[in-house]
Amino acid sequence: METISAIETRDRETAYRQTLKDRKRIVVKVGSSSLLHPETGRLDYHRIDLLARELSDLKNQGKDIILVSSGATAAGREVLRSALGNLREHPVHGSRPMAEKQACAAVGQARLMMIYQKFFDDYNQTTAQVLMTRDTVSDPLSKYNLSSTFTELLAMDVIPIVNENDSVATFEFSVGDNDNLSAMVAAVLGADLLILLSDIDGLYTDDPRKNPDARFIPFVDKMDGDILQMGKGSTGSSSGTGGMSTKLHAGLIATRSGCDMIIVNASRLNVLHEIIEGEKRGTLFCADREEDFDLRDYVE
Ligand code: GLU
Repeated sequence: METISAIETRDRETAYRQTLKDRKRIVVKVGSSSLLHPETGRLDYHRIDLLARELSDLKNQGKDIILVSSGATAAGREVLRSALGNLREHPVHGSRPMAEKQACAAVGQARLMMIYQKFFDDYNQTTAQVLMTRDTVSDPLSKYNLSSTFTELLAMDVIPIVNENDSVATFEFSVGDNDNLSAMVAAVLGADLLILLSDIDGLYTDDPRKNPDARFIPFVDKMDGDILQMGKGSTGSSSGTGGMSTKLHAGLIATRSGCDMIIVNASRLNVLHEIIEGEKRGTLFCADREEDFDLRDYVE
């Protein structure tokens, strides 16, 4: 039988979910694994089209939409497939895996934007590319400039499409994963909802791929030590970089900045509309604004 506290939590979740209808500024993060065919690692145009369509419709409902998209490196690898094969057979003296990845990202970012622009254009939306690194938010002047650019773009009804500037970001100043990057964007923008589209359903008490007894947690009121512990030891998907612990760190940034966050499975992209309609999808982490929130405390 359900306990009183379980019923109370469920009722609180139902009421809280209803308030998501009123969210005005929404950041949506999509990972590489949601944009690729798992069998071939090549771009899934059908899903990219569906994503553009869902986001365009939310935009037409009057919401500010910001898309944080991975996939630059993967798209670059696809374009450079034969060149990379040749390089493997005849390696250029001094070439390094990091440089190769950055070259792929440079090619792939342009390709990715071309694809997004094509699909968003079909739905009558204007998009913009914003590339950033960790420095962009830790340096006050760059952060101010970033925030002004976003504000201006949103005022012009543009959908900014954000990624890490992978072709210049080196280990010392890259964020490394787009879960945290999207939470930083949400914090800079004062967004009220961050949705992480993922290849997992949400938060479990343990990694469900390893532990069949792991329980799903649909609603997190407060991100305490017990919750953070649940991300330990989880690994990311084969194509993306973010496992559950990076998603929970992103959750800390988002919720402490005053933004709700949802982790949800991207297998059906109309889940975005269902979330905004108040349906129970994925794990919802409630905003828990820290009085003197300073993004720099979370990015160093
Ligand atoms: N910025 C990387 C890319 O576009 C992806 C980072 C991530 O997977 O989170 O390829």
